[in-house]
Amino acid sequence: MIKFIPLGGADEVGASCFYINIEGTGILLDCGMHPRKKGKDALPNFELLKNLPLDFVLISHAHQDHIGSLPFLIQQFPHAIIYSTIQTKELASIILHDAANILAKESIDNDLKIYTHEEIDFLIQSIFEIEYDKQFKLVGLRHNSSEPIFVKFIDAGHILGSSSIMIEFNAHKIFYTGDINLSDQEIMLGANLENIENVDVLILETTYGSTDSSILGTWESESERFAQEINKILIDGGSILIPVFALGKTQEILALIYRLTNSKKIIETNIYTGGISREISKVYDNNRFIVKRKKSNLELKEIPQLNLLEIQDYNYFRKNPGIILASSGMMIEETTSYKLAEYWLNQKNFAIFSVGYMDPETPGYRITNSTKGEEVFLKNSSKPKIVNCEIKKFYFPSHSKREELLKIVELTNAKKVVLVHGELNSKDWIGFNILKKFKDINLFSAENCKEIIL
Ligand SMILES: [Zn+2]
Ligand SMILES: [Zn+2]
Repeated sequence: MIKFIPLGGADEVGASCFYINIEGTGILLDCGMHPRKKGKDALPNFELLKNLPLDFVLISHAHQDHIGSLPFLIQQFPHAIIYSTIQTKELASIILHDAANILAKESIDNDLKIYTHEEIDFLIQSIFEIEYDKQFKLVGLRHNSSEPIFVKFIDAGHILGSSSIMIEFNAHKIFYTGDINLSDQEIMLGANLENIENVDVLILETTYGSTDSSILGTWESESERFAQEINKILIDGGSILIPVFALGKTQEILALIYRLTNSKKIIETNIYTGGISREISKVYDNNRFIVKRKKSNLELKEIPQLNLLEIQDYNYFRKNPGIILASSGMMIEETTSYKLAEYWLNQKNFAIFSVGYMDPETPGYRITNSTKGEEVFLKNSSKPKIVNCEIKKFYFPSHSKREELLKIVELTNAKKVVLVHGELNSKDWIGFNILKKFKDINLFSAENCKEIIL
């Protein structure tokens, strides 16, 4: 019998964490932290594991919403054995050390038992690193079958090191997409699922389920529009703020700006980056011949960049305009991109460009869905601010479009599909269209803390 229990991230881009029990062996798929919530609310519901066996943790990739709670899990379940790809392990070290610094600052007003940098070092050392496409065996302490469980990490095309996870047991295949992108980005190659077929259970992310891709451009047409809009602002002496995730989006957009500058589509200008995104770019550079990607010869460190964190007075950007790549990607309160946005909103010739997914309850979503002249609430508690700068949205997805999500169902010939990692309207669109297109599929919309027998 296979039991599936989402501990978090079932119906939002949140604390992704899914428990699977296969004949007594307990496996967690991911162990994320909610990007917006604080304290215990940001963690998966580990209470549900109390009377269940937990033997292994498989991490799909190093984004905070998939790995952020791992140190908290290990505090409670030190015996759990963790696996990830080599690159995810490298990136996890940067992400978790950075998160520890942020959590330490926040710990005064929340209820979490904070972990130390030393604990993270031990945790990272304990992760078993596995190459893409290499099968390995799992047998839990209370496994009650003579058949072992086989696992494989498959390149998911989302960020460096990202993987989908294939679990095989007794001729039964469970395929967890993790965050997956079938299309190429500037650096990443889209996932190739040609050899993934006859899947019994597909656990499918649905981030872009509610986004109508027919009205959006392609990567190339968006690049052209992006270049034109950047030039408009630069010619006017303004600066452009682009909120980006430090991991993935920064590197993709940096490579894109570099290409557009080299091909003279963007006027040469200053590029500002800072913080952990630079350390992450190093990991991209070091792995450029190890993983399959585009532009293996491109080293991100060769792209001229000024250090954003050295600039305290934002009036500097009036005299030294440029493009600023700042995290967080969703302009979460008190992050660099949030503080810059507070300044940017007052500047008439400046602009904020969004390039990725925004949670509807974040300042980033509210800002990038406003227009010049409107009022926008940055915090619920504060007074609204008037939007004086230009706001533009661009579509450079690191997740599959909704038609591609349906394509994954088709490619894998899934018999059962479990929808996760998406807002309710995203899951609704995907669910409705799966049922319309594939008549015999058994569909489940996962809910946090609700068990599904597969
Ligand atoms: Zn991700
Ligand atoms: Zn995610």
